[in-house]
Amino acid sequence: MRAEARNRPGVYRFLGPRGEPLYVGKSVQLRNRLLSWLRGDDRKATELLRVTHGLEWEYLGSEFEAVLREFRLIRELRPRFNVVHRRDRTFAWIRLTAEPAPRLVATLRPGAGPTRRGGRRRERTFGPFPARRSLPRDLEALAAVLGLRDCAGSTPMHFADQVDLWGPSVEPGCARAELGTCPAPCAAGCSEDAYQARVNEAVAFLEGRSDAPLEALDARMLDAAEREAFEFAARCRDRIERLNRLRTRIVETGSRIERLTFVYETGSPTETPRHHLVRRGQVLFSFDAPGPGGGPPGRGSAGHDLASRIREAIRAPAPQLAGLDDEAREELFIVTRWFRTHPEEEGRTTPIPAYLSELGSPG
Ligand code: SF4
Repeated sequence: MRAEARNRPGVYRFLGPRGEPLYVGKSVQLRNRLLSWLRGDDRKATELLRVTHGLEWEYLGSEFEAVLREFRLIRELRPRFNVVHRRDRTFAWIRLTAEPAPRLVATLRPGAGPTRRGGRRRERTFGPFPARRSLPRDLEALAAVLGLRDCAGSTPMHFADQVDLWGPSVEPGCARAELGTCPAPCAAGCSEDAYQARVNEAVAFLEGRSDAPLEALDARMLDAAEREAFEFAARCRDRIERLNRLRTRIVETGSRIERLTFVYETGSPTETPRHHLVRRGQVLFSFDAPGPGGGPPGRGSAGHDLASRIREAIRAPAPQLAGLDDEAREELFIVTRWFRTHPEEEGRTTPIPAYLSELGSPG
């Protein structure tokens, strides 16, 4: 290994006795990284080396490719020494739970949760948003204005259309029913469909399709001011400010991800660059730069074929953030984080129409 491995970007795999992957890692300097593992300096390395029977690695053209390859290998192979979900506290997500009466929860960990039994409802995740301490309070404000519950997930629900009319009545589990900020699905205060209509309004707001919660708050604030209920009017104003901030973040997130649409060139000046077709933060496919010596793409039949492939890839409707599956969402997270931590790399991107023009096939 000492003689073979070179200091280039790449990924490596530690293998168990049957060749099964135990650990996948990446480095921009593969040789140095592997040597540091083999020194067994810490407990994790010692433990890993104790059960390792083989080691393999592959070189890649850039750190970006190594980051992406490592992520995809971990997702595919699930090696037992890897922590699949790394937490990055600069981003947060909003999760709509898959419970019978769903809740909105702020989380630092993206990833879809379970499907509701019977498959009718899936947990949904919105984001990534810049992590702020205020996010849970912002969600509280949204839940209060729309009438979504915020009690424990384990709270039993008794929808109005599901209770036995002659059975014992159930009392609401908290004061929000009395305050009128929750329709009390725990105590037959509303039907499942009526609660779901409120959930749908929350989804429309989180997808940036509706301002209904803000309009409702505006109307309540004006009404309270007319009635000289100034304390309530001030509470409405605070909630409007919170929801406005949340909406700004939703719009910014959408436009930041929209901006991550281009062809991105990676690689060192001494090697043929790789090009990556990125759409809304997702790498659709990668290829060697088609031009002579890895230069500008150039024209001709190869360029024409590539242009057709690009056009086909972007013809499909772009998936909406909320509709992304677990894997796509995590890859989006990785690409977003890459360009946030390496802003200079945006200088190596080309808008897709300009790239198609260089191929002699304007879009
Ligand atoms: S009223 Fe019931 S459903 Fe609503 S938040 Fe309180 S305990 Fe939960």
